[in-house]
Amino acid sequence: MSQYDLSQPESSRLLQLEEEIAEDLKAVFRIGVNLMEIRDNKLWRENFRSFEDYCNDKWSKGSNWARKMIKAVKVQDVVPIENEWQARQLADLSDDKKVEVFNRAVDEVSDPALVTGSQLKRIKQSVLAEEVEPDIDQAMLVNHRMLAEDFDSCLNGLTRVNSIIEGISDQSVGMWLNVEEFRMDMKNMRANIRMSKPHELCPYCMGGGNLMSLEGNEEDCSACRTLGWVPKAVWDEAPEQFKNKVRGCDSEITSNEPLMD
Ligand SMILES: [Zn+2]
Repeated sequence: MSQYDLSQPESSRLLQLEEEIAEDLKAVFRIGVNLMEIRDNKLWRENFRSFEDYCNDKWSKGSNWARKMIKAVKVQDVVPIENEWQARQLADLSDDKKVEVFNRAVDEVSDPALVTGSQLKRIKQSVLAEEVEPDIDQAMLVNHRMLAEDFDSCLNGLTRVNSIIEGISDQSVGMWLNVEEFRMDMKNMRANIRMSKPHELCPYCMGGGNLMSLEGNEEDCSACRTLGWVPKAVWDEAPEQFKNKVRGCDSEITSNEPLMD
């Protein structure tokens, strides 16, 4: 028996403690149900001016807390979740989506009781990503390509400069050239241009420069700073399912960067 193994009494104690915690986590739903009744029937009205004041004074909690608890109940009305963390993952989805995400989670673990909040969070993200219709902004696409061409022209220009300098570096006319420094500068310039060049349409906003939030508001796309395109560094960081949408809509977008080095 190793130092990690639990004794028989320890094992059953652990089980008992965990069952109690699981029960307490479920109590969240009773809190939500009770708060909802207090709110909806204005049972707070004798001693408080508002439901917010009631939450603040009576329970030392903001109304945000009450809203979360009530939301959790509404999630549980739709899918058999067990705690508030799970509820929070699904709260902002439509009922259909709640069911879809939950069912996918159950498919993965084959028992509804084993579904976790983190699992729901992950599945929700991929369900939402699938939902966004690939709606490529065509004007942006053309613009983005032209911008990329300018960068490629610069890189081509540098290649010409490079071959001239390398050509004269071992001739007498190039006697005063610091070739090492030139190569270093050249490398930096190329890296700078490559890193800042429009690489692909923004996989988050599909070139539109803005996004629809879960609440249905239009928001600036921060990934591309509303430009509609992203440089390679941002592209590389984006989730695959987003990138596939851009790729699916436009297979020939990757520009033909001149080969160098
Ligand atoms: Zn964007």
